[in-house]
Amino acid sequence: MSETLIADFGKTVVAWQRRHGRHTLPWQNTRDPYRVWLSEVMLQQTQVTTVLGYYERFLTRWPKVTDLAAATLDEVLAQWAGLGYYSRARNLHGCAKAVAELHGGEFPATAAGLQTLPGIGRSTAAAIAAFCFGERVAILDGNVKRVLGRVLAFGGDLASSAAEKRLWDRASELLPEQDVDRYTQGLMDLGATVCSTRSPDCLLCPVQPMCRGQHEGDPTRYPVKTRKLKRGRRENWWLWVEKKGEAGGQVLLHQRPATGVWAGLWTLPMFDDEASARAALPGGELATLPRIQHALTHFDWVLHTLRAEVHGVTAGMTDGGTWVAREKLSLYALPAPLKKLIEES
Ligand code: SF4
Repeated sequence: MSETLIADFGKTVVAWQRRHGRHTLPWQNTRDPYRVWLSEVMLQQTQVTTVLGYYERFLTRWPKVTDLAAATLDEVLAQWAGLGYYSRARNLHGCAKAVAELHGGEFPATAAGLQTLPGIGRSTAAAIAAFCFGERVAILDGNVKRVLGRVLAFGGDLASSAAEKRLWDRASELLPEQDVDRYTQGLMDLGATVCSTRSPDCLLCPVQPMCRGQHEGDPTRYPVKTRKLKRGRRENWWLWVEKKGEAGGQVLLHQRPATGVWAGLWTLPMFDDEASARAALPGGELATLPRIQHALTHFDWVLHTLRAEVHGVTAGMTDGGTWVAREKLSLYALPAPLKKLIEES
């Protein structure tokens, strides 16, 4: 891209954002790094419409980063439940603690400083620095990779870190001299609303005149990423045991280990096969609930549920578990499919 086109690209994105971009999202029109950071973390892998409610609830409960730092991880996970990718919630909590304990409750004011915090990668750090501190620094999240990959007809395979570094360099070259915050928002808006993955709306796109991918005829060829995730399949059995008593029902929950899928969340006791699940409640009358299919990044999870009501507790049944009153279940960080199962049963 020539020097003139580089200058035009930045100005075009800025002008388009001013007239046609998004301006009313609750995390816009603020320079508070706590709010911007919270939205950036929630928006990784998650749609705006899903994030809106979670964002408001987090801010109502923890208005400042120091409030979030003072919460327990269990409280944060419970509030996060349903947003998925729970490592983000753990990093969120870790980051809030680091800001409170190492930085006196203030986020560092540069992308380089922000990047030292847990869970804040290069692109998120750049977005916070551009929006809150006006730093002239490039972002390169998934949407922006797509827009720039197409505009530049960038043929490098982004599965390789060398190619990704080259795209970072190009992203930095394209930065306008001024209005970096609006430019950053404009790139995000273009990726979210115009340059979609499968059917980019090139006729409406402000950078169409300088988009090499579109001029070549098939912009969806870009960006190139060859590595395919090999998806697996897993199957497990949940045992939903509900203890009936005068005080109402109580459900047996187990906490997942601190690492791995659904780390730290609470679920029904889980077994590798049906026989093991049945053996855990010998003689119990077990009803079979409809199976659940849950897609995670690396595998599809088929979850079967066997349900029983008990009036007493047999030895060993509660090993490693906790009885939780039904009305208190919402206080626990439950994975989304379990939350739905309980709500619907
Ligand atoms: Fe994307 Fe089309 Fe715009 Fe190029 S012209 S950036 S492919 S929407």
